[in-house]
Amino acid sequence: MLGRLCRYLRAAGYDAVCASGGRRDGELLRQCHDEGRYFLTQDQLVHEHKAARNIALILPQGDTDRLAALLTAHFQLDWLGRAFTRCLVDNTPLLAADDAAKAKFPQDAIRPDEPLRVCPACGRVYWQGSHYKRMHARLARWQAARF
Ligand SMILES: [Zn+2]
Repeated sequence: MLGRLCRYLRAAGYDAVCASGGRRDGELLRQCHDEGRYFLTQDQLVHEHKAARNIALILPQGDTDRLAALLTAHFQLDWLGRAFTRCLVDNTPLLAADDAAKAKFPQDAIRPDEPLRVCPACGRVYWQGSHYKRMHARLARWQAARF
């Protein structure tokens, strides 16, 4: 349910783990404690876990824009300060693409003024294409709504 929000948190540069299906809340809460994470969920029953105290934030149903506004208010998030520094798929911090990574990329798509970043874990290359522009516009909207 919160998968899209998780991707946007990563797009903003936050270290966000998206829980895959099948894992129990207790196990996920333990992981959050161990790794110093907050636990975002839409499941009211999470409050029945003692381990949820101080780390669980139960979000209402709603679209991603509404949920982002709630997170902005709760955590004073900065949506642009570290934007596009993490892999959207696996959360790994991105590196500047080296020549080997650049060589695998269509040369006519590279613009000298746009940074090319690569994920050291999955090899995915990130550039400022239309997908980036859409996500960036949304992050900028959320950022502008902070004040
Ligand atoms: Zn990756």
